[in-house]
Amino acid sequence: MANKVSLPTKMAIGLVLGLCVGAAFSTAGWDGSWFKPIGQVFINLVRMLVVPLVFFTLVAGAASIADISKLGRVALKTMVFYLLTTALAISIALILANFFEPGVGLNIVTEGIQYKQVAPPSISSVLINIIPINPMQALATGNMLQIIFFAILLGFTLSTLGDFAKPMTKIIDVMAEVMIKMTGYVMVYAPIGIFGLMAYTVSMYGLEVLLPLAKLILVMYIASLAQILLVYLPCMRFCGISPLQFIKGLASPLIIAFSTCSSAAALSSNLQSSQRLGASKTVSSFSIPLGNTINMDGAAIYMGVAAVFAAEIYGIPLPLDKQLTIVLLAVLASIGSMGVPGAALIMVTMVFAQVGIPLEAIALIAGVDRIMDMARTTINVLGDATAAIFVTKLEGELVPPKEDA
Ligand code: ASP
Repeated sequence: MANKVSLPTKMAIGLVLGLCVGAAFSTAGWDGSWFKPIGQVFINLVRMLVVPLVFFTLVAGAASIADISKLGRVALKTMVFYLLTTALAISIALILANFFEPGVGLNIVTEGIQYKQVAPPSISSVLINIIPINPMQALATGNMLQIIFFAILLGFTLSTLGDFAKPMTKIIDVMAEVMIKMTGYVMVYAPIGIFGLMAYTVSMYGLEVLLPLAKLILVMYIASLAQILLVYLPCMRFCGISPLQFIKGLASPLIIAFSTCSSAAALSSNLQSSQRLGASKTVSSFSIPLGNTINMDGAAIYMGVAAVFAAEIYGIPLPLDKQLTIVLLAVLASIGSMGVPGAALIMVTMVFAQVGIPLEAIALIAGVDRIMDMARTTINVLGDATAAIFVTKLEGELVPPKEDA
């Protein structure tokens, strides 16, 4: 009987229970910090899977593509899709933020505030750094772009060696399957971990923290919803996948993203769910790990909303040229963000500095960053899954799931 309840349903129950328990703790003023380890165990478990899963699936995928031009084509389509959807995300965010004016009428003290500024790296250094000097170090430190680069090269080289390399290719195929199976075991703990994460997060926020910034949070969530309705769902329509199939099919990675605020933690689940929705192994094992690092539509939305909010607080006008600068910078800053909690909060300093917004503004929004991170991580993950399915369709390989899937 108990096994009849699907994993996403169990995870949703954990999420709602965690929300309720956290809210009860927050209202009663009790210490919710002992929920933290319950969630941390889950985050460590899922992050443990990421490097071996990405490495073995990518090598296996690349080794199975005899045709190198196909790899190049998939890479190009994926990159163009990522750039376009991120630019749309930030444009939607700016339009909505200008309309709702989340910072107008707020009076907040910003003195004595601590912040950390990041300088944008040059494009050439980003590109050069994709090549790992030491592939083992890339694996050990979890440098995703370097791992992707090396794994594709390794897979391609294996494929050129023909029969001689078959035993090795077989071992890598087996290891990829092992990691997928292991993901399944780890997911058994997911509902409990998600409960712990939600209970801890919600218990930490009282209404006194949330209310003054309620409009900002609301605009972030509305813009995220708009990105789903205006960008992702039309893409899915083109792929013959209904909105219900899309959201239901991706429920597990979305709940993991929402509760952990880490798209890296949702990666393995996203890979499997996208494949169940029809994304091919070849496309998804390339585009999802890549998107995990460079495609952050949610972070871009956040940067737009945060910039308009902060400019309004300080009374700084944002004419069209500055808003266009924000579009460009947010795309770059989101590419540079990592899939870990709070990453975009650091990267947003890049945007603020360029359009003349005082960096103290970061502290205004830092207090509610986790709540906004939940929305942006969910969108970050959804954007990667959409790309994997869409590019599979463009490659003419999509087999959409059955209506009841
Ligand atoms: N937490 C986000 C993620 O993991 C990154 C960010 O937007 O801060 O995707």
